[in-house]
Amino acid sequence: MPISTDLSAYGWIPIPVVCIRNGDGPTAVLIAGTHGDEYEGQIALMELARSVEPSQIHGRIIILPALNYPAVEAGRRVSPIDEGNLNRVYPGKAHGTATEMIAHYVTEVILPLADVVVDLHSGGRSLEYQPCALIRPSADRERHRQLLELVKVFSAPVSYLTDGNGGGGNTTLAAAAELLGVPVITAELGGGATYRQKGKDIASSGVRRLLSHLGIRKDREVAVADETRMTDVPGREYYLYAESDGLFEPAVAVGVDVTAGQHAGYLHSFCRPTEPPIALSFPASGLIACHRFPTLTRRGDCLYGLMRDISDN
Ligand SMILES: [Zn+2]
Repeated sequence: MPISTDLSAYGWIPIPVVCIRNGDGPTAVLIAGTHGDEYEGQIALMELARSVEPSQIHGRIIILPALNYPAVEAGRRVSPIDEGNLNRVYPGKAHGTATEMIAHYVTEVILPLADVVVDLHSGGRSLEYQPCALIRPSADRERHRQLLELVKVFSAPVSYLTDGNGGGGNTTLAAAAELLGVPVITAELGGGATYRQKGKDIASSGVRRLLSHLGIRKDREVAVADETRMTDVPGREYYLYAESDGLFEPAVAVGVDVTAGQHAGYLHSFCRPTEPPIALSFPASGLIACHRFPTLTRRGDCLYGLMRDISDN
């Protein structure tokens, strides 16, 4: 990525790309490091990049293990160069900020090559996530069927359909890919800006099953897919937000089923220590997808996200 600063007028920032190609066949694009403080996917893809022999594959695997490289280098969700959140600036701009340029390159150069994209995320510094895979529902029936098939092959413990109503909307990679007809499997693998072995194992086995399913790399060693629990997020009422500043004391862990009205925890006011804390309750029934990781909370922060079970037929 070109960069022109006080100390590097004609400089560039290297963003690692690993391309492994052999013969004819489909192209899988595997991405991590869209957010720099999400680690399971970064490590899983570096391992994969080291382990694939070109002679084993039919087609092409493009691995971008640290897509927003400045954010990865800084261990941050957003880029320290422009404070840009890569999954909120798609389709990007050719002559935009650093982060917008990366999004533009993905939209214009990478996505048109892809038959499938896997974008590996985690909760980062602010969230703890139930490991899960996400697909963006498609208005095109055939593409929607294909997305459901692929997410079942990926087979995270939970899969959910979301149009980005909790954040992102039409500014995400999945939204840009939908316009180009490219299926995207996004995964959330843990959180708290740390590494979880379980999340990395889900990413590694899911990616290997997808490569095998697409005929790019037959892999007899990878475990067969488990049943995945299908869910969706119908709307904003499946999120609970902080209505004032305070210290968040969650009552329920991620991955637990709750009912509407159930006690969700407390928000303690650090400026009014003798007042009782605000008692929180869940706005809907469902499975806890994520909760806020840091205790210190500001008005407007997301405290919980919920998912609802669906049947997918
Ligand atoms: Zn992320």
